[in-house]
Amino acid sequence: MPHIKDERTFVIIKPDGIQRTLIGEIMGRYERIGLKLVGLKLLVTTPEQIEKHYTLDPNWLRVTGEKTIKNYRDKGLTPPSDDPYVITKRILKNLMVYMTSGPVLVMVWEGAHAVKIVRKITGGTEPLSSDVGTIRGDFVLDSYQISDIDGRSIRNLVHASGSPEEAEKEIALWFKQEELIGYKLLQEQILYDVNMDGIME
Ligand code: ADP
Ligand code: MG
Repeated sequence: MPHIKDERTFVIIKPDGIQRTLIGEIMGRYERIGLKLVGLKLLVTTPEQIEKHYTLDPNWLRVTGEKTIKNYRDKGLTPPSDDPYVITKRILKNLMVYMTSGPVLVMVWEGAHAVKIVRKITGGTEPLSSDVGTIRGDFVLDSYQISDIDGRSIRNLVHASGSPEEAEKEIALWFKQEELIGYKLLQEQILYDVNMDGIME
């Protein structure tokens, strides 16, 4: 069984994150909490790859549609459709345009609770309502409302896996095994070692 500190998660800095020159800022937030970078590539992706990425989880189409409908209802607004699949069909089409509009940076981060920690630091899907202190809450002002007016994706700078199972599939889709590097960070001894041995001379 892999150790809990070996959990991995998959992150994309989306084209708007690159254009806003936030690479260092975003990576610094994952790095400073103690996660370890084990894979990294700058690339321009294709609509086919984006469709594959978002349909790896068979539930994503339904769940994302339902999440959008709930968000509208919570605000007292009428959702564009009552059918979650109709909603996600449009979201996916827009994502294929958004995510292929420029280079993206794909990466794999490793550490205890990597998936949850990265989601916490990244913040909720909609920048307008994501918490202050998160990447999406601090660096961008997009909303369901404004993205709807122009019929486009919400621009929220980053993608991050939603669960360890999702992470595993996403990593396999974007990285070859040999592109992921297994190595130790010296700080792991302080983060994970039982007795924090080796400090005193
Ligand atoms: P997250 O990226 O927070 O996991 P989802 O997996 O639900 O969010 O959606 C994937 C991406 O699709 C979002 O990050 C966002 O860019 C876009 N998106 C999701 N729902 C909507 C929506 N209702 N309107 C516009 N874009 C959306
Ligand atoms: Mg998601």
